Amino acid sequence: MNTELEELYQSVILDHSRRPRNKGEIAEGAVHVHGDNPSCGDEIHLHVKFGADGGVEDLKFTGQGCAISQASASLMTMKVKGRSREEAETMVRAFHDLVTIEVADPPKMLGDLRLLQGVKKFPQRVKCAMLAWRALEQAIEAGDKESSVSTEGV
Ligand code: ZN
Repeated sequence: MNTELEELYQSVILDHSRRPRNKGEIAEGAVHVHGDNPSCGDEIHLHVKFGADGGVEDLKFTGQGCAISQASASLMTMKVKGRSREEAETMVRAFHDLVTIEVADPPKMLGDLRLLQGVKKFPQRVKCAMLAWRALEQAIEAGDKESSVSTEGV
C-alpha cells in the first residue's frame, strides 16, 4: 500500500471504531449470534433480521474489542444491510479472500471494506477482521434460530 492508502486505511478504521454504525440490538424476529476471538479478546453479538425473501433486512451489533474488529463489524453491517442472502454470502467470501490472499481487483460491492486488505500483512489481525463476518455466516446458516460461533481457526 502507498502512503495515501495507508492513511485512508487508518482514518476509516479509527472513524468506525470510535463511532460504530448500526450499534445496538434488534429486539424481535432476529437471529442472534455470539462470536468471540480469544486470541485478541474481541467479542461480538450480532443480530440479523431476515426478510420474507431471505434477504438481510436489518442487522445490528454490540460488543467490544480492538479497533480492527469494531471497524470491520461496523463496515460490514453498512454494506450487507439490504442485500439478498446470495449477495451476503458472496460478500463473506470476497472479504475473506481480501484479507487472506492477494486480490488484484477487489469487488466494488465491498466499498470501504477494501481498505481492510492491509490486515493481510498481520495474520493475527485476520481473526479480528473476520469475526463479524463469521458471525454473519453463522446467522445465514442458522436461518431462524439462535446460535453461537467462535472464530478460532479461521
Ligand atoms: Zn482484535
